[in-house]
Amino acid sequence: MLLLSSCQWQEPWHDVQETRFLLGTLVSFTVYSNDEEKALAAIQQASAIMQSVEQSFTSFTDVDNSVQRFNHALAGEVITLTADVDGLLRQSLQIQQQSLGAFDPVLGALNQAWAFSEAKNQQKPLSADLIEQALNVSGVLQLQAVSGMKWTKNKNQTQLDFGAIAKGFAIDQGIQSLQTSGIEHAIINAGGDLRILGNHGDKAWKVAVRHPRLKQPLGWFDIEDDSSVVTSGDYERFFVYESKRYHHILNPKTGQPADKNMSVTVLTASATLADAWSTALFVLDVETGLKMVENMPDLEALWVDKHQVLHLSSGMKKMFFPSKAH
Ligand code: AMP
Ligand code: MG
Repeated sequence: MLLLSSCQWQEPWHDVQETRFLLGTLVSFTVYSNDEEKALAAIQQASAIMQSVEQSFTSFTDVDNSVQRFNHALAGEVITLTADVDGLLRQSLQIQQQSLGAFDPVLGALNQAWAFSEAKNQQKPLSADLIEQALNVSGVLQLQAVSGMKWTKNKNQTQLDFGAIAKGFAIDQGIQSLQTSGIEHAIINAGGDLRILGNHGDKAWKVAVRHPRLKQPLGWFDIEDDSSVVTSGDYERFFVYESKRYHHILNPKTGQPADKNMSVTVLTASATLADAWSTALFVLDVETGLKMVENMPDLEALWVDKHQVLHLSSGMKKMFFPSKAH
């Protein structure tokens, strides 16, 4: 008779999956593991951390966080941000400069005026007067660093908005938490924006990129190790008025929805950077953006421009497989 003691039994490697509603979207956690109990505990911890990031950065609800305190403060009032918010604000200001102002973390008043978070099809575009009023109180020039984590603003209505970067930051924090829990192979996918850790057995993880207009994917990446893929698109939050599409990614110079691209996908190690740069590149034209990307080591991008033409950065050409239809 053959007796196997329980310690000889090895759980096979398999995907452990959980989905949660976080960051305003469905977030799926996939851990490739041979220890389901450990994987589930790690996912639980990572999702709690991502929820706390959401609570620290959200400016949509009545949560009492330092972003809301800053946004509701009066001009000249000194507000101390939390370390996470201060850190991400400083990183955002750097990207604002590198992107020649295409990315701007101080667009809260303009974003609110457009109200894309409540987008309905009956909505009308904002009048030139209201755009001008919102632009007057928006943008990094309205922000002043006092000292340490203390900040103030020039106008009462000036507001921070981390909508273009906080999801990426939350994904990075989630992956870091999984690593701390001893996980080596995983994906955190927040509504198509994702970060990958390790690999999928002896295979790379396969990631499809959404086409901005069609149901079938634009193509896919084969990627492994530490990489993030984030897309900004004009199809996420929008309304149509007199046959023209108005969407949630705004050009800080004009106050209007950016009109150069339909979608931009960025691949780089950090989800925070992928998120911020996909928004920045979406605002810029392909030529300007491509020059910036070619100057950034380890960051690649693909654009579907306003004419639905696909453009790839040089490194992207080696990693991206367009679907046959394109
Ligand atoms: P994403 O979907 O990551 O491209 O982020 C879009 C969100 O970021 C919007 O819903 C706004 O909250 C905010 N946003 C819009 N335009 C910009 C911009 N030019 N720079 C930074 N944040 C922006
Ligand atoms: Mg973004």
